[in-house]
Amino acid sequence: MTFRKLARTILHLDFLKAMSLTFMSLFSKPITRQYPSEKRPVSLGFRGLHALTRDSVTGEARCVGCGLCAAICPSRCIHIYTSEGPENKKIVERYEIEVLRCVYCCLCVEACPYTAIALTEHYEYVAFNRQTLYMTKDRLLDNYDSYMGREKDEHYFRLFWHPRRTDFMTPVDQAVFRRRP
Ligand code: SF4
Ligand code: SF4
Repeated sequence: MTFRKLARTILHLDFLKAMSLTFMSLFSKPITRQYPSEKRPVSLGFRGLHALTRDSVTGEARCVGCGLCAAICPSRCIHIYTSEGPENKKIVERYEIEVLRCVYCCLCVEACPYTAIALTEHYEYVAFNRQTLYMTKDRLLDNYDSYMGREKDEHYFRLFWHPRRTDFMTPVDQAVFRRRP
C-alpha cells in the first residue's frame, strides 16, 4: 500500500467525500417524479397500446384482412377472421390481439401495407384478468379514437412507417406486358 492510500484510509477521506456529496444533495432540487400525478411526456412513436386505424373518409377500419401483420408477429398474438365479401373482397369479421403476449416489436406496424395498425402512446392500462387485455376489433378502433386520432395518425405514419402501399404500385408511365385477348 502506498503512503497516499494509507493516508486516505486513516483519515477516512473517501467516507468524508461521500458524506459531503450526500449533504449537498439535501439542498438540490429532487428529480423524482411523483407518478401518477406527475407524468413524463411521451413522444410520438412510443410503443403503447394497440389500435386499428380508421379511414379518413369513411371512418371504417383500414384493415383489409391480408394477414401480413399476423404472419410477421413473433408472438403469434394477432388473430384475424375473415369472410368472402362482394367482388372477392375480404371482410374482416374479427381482428383480435392478445396484448399480454405482445413484445411491442412494432413489426406488425411495419408490415402492414395499409397503415391499418398502430401502437399508440397510451401505456396506462392494467387489469386483474387476461380478458380485459384481449383486444377485439371494436376495442382496437376505440383505442384509435381515444389515443391517436387523425392528426397524430398522419404524423405517426409519416415518421415511422415506410414504404407505403403506393410505393409498390406500377408507375403510370411504365410499360406493362399484357396477355393477348
Ligand atoms: S392490419 Fe394491415 S397487415 Fe394486418 S391484416 Fe389488416 S391490412 Fe393486413
Ligand atoms: S408489436 Fe410485435 S409482438 Fe406485438 S402484436 Fe405487433 S408484431 Fe406482434
